[in-house]
Amino acid sequence: MLKDNLIKVKERVECACSKVKRDPSDIEIIAVSKGRPFSDIREVFSSGISDIGENRVQEASLKYSISDLPVRWHMLGHLQGNKVKEAVKIFDLIHSVDSLKLAREIDRKAAEISKVQDILIEVKTSYEQNKFGFQPEELVVAINDISGLRNLRVSGFMTVAPILQYSEDTRVYFRKLHLLREELKEVFSYNLKLSMGMSDDFEIAIEEGADIIRIGRAIFEGEDA
Ligand SMILES: *Cc1c(COP(=O)(O)O)cnc(C)c1O
Repeated sequence: MLKDNLIKVKERVECACSKVKRDPSDIEIIAVSKGRPFSDIREVFSSGISDIGENRVQEASLKYSISDLPVRWHMLGHLQGNKVKEAVKIFDLIHSVDSLKLAREIDRKAAEISKVQDILIEVKTSYEQNKFGFQPEELVVAINDISGLRNLRVSGFMTVAPILQYSEDTRVYFRKLHLLREELKEVFSYNLKLSMGMSDDFEIAIEEGADIIRIGRAIFEGEDA
């Protein structure tokens, strides 16, 4: 049952928070519903989750069009230029801004509908191939450029840790994002959130300072999925 899975996830969040003396109510849980029917979104919503994550615009668009729920939609996957127009219509927060070109396109399309689009900047914290995101060294320049775009609001950073056999090994990547945020805090006065941690590694991410965790399988399939 989704409800029971969610209770378990919340217990795990509380446990991780108590280790590092954080308040569990400061952690935003996004239910990642990619590949799941809309009825599953309804079910998590009725269990108290109102943040929904998707990684493809087309799939999100279908669910959005039938949704009668006051949920917040989060875009987590790589966003192609030709999907930006639709994405700015749907999403409250785009986590996956991974290039300046994309940032400019989002700004342009958001301006067309007079929206200020909330975004997170995706950062490559590991050196795997085929991964999207800015290199840490590029961040200061990137944020400076993006800050000049009037229809974007940078709310923080997102990262995806590599898939590793032992979740403990993901700690260095989360710590890296946290350190980057602390460094950039001195340059940018406002609060930047960290979106990091998925089903297999969210406890570690919380210990390392995650503000937003993105949970798919642990909610929709259960702990042993
Ligand atoms: C699928 C996905 C998640 C959720 O992953 P689970 O392992 O199912 O919890 C989180 N973030 C991104 C970017 C994803 O694509």
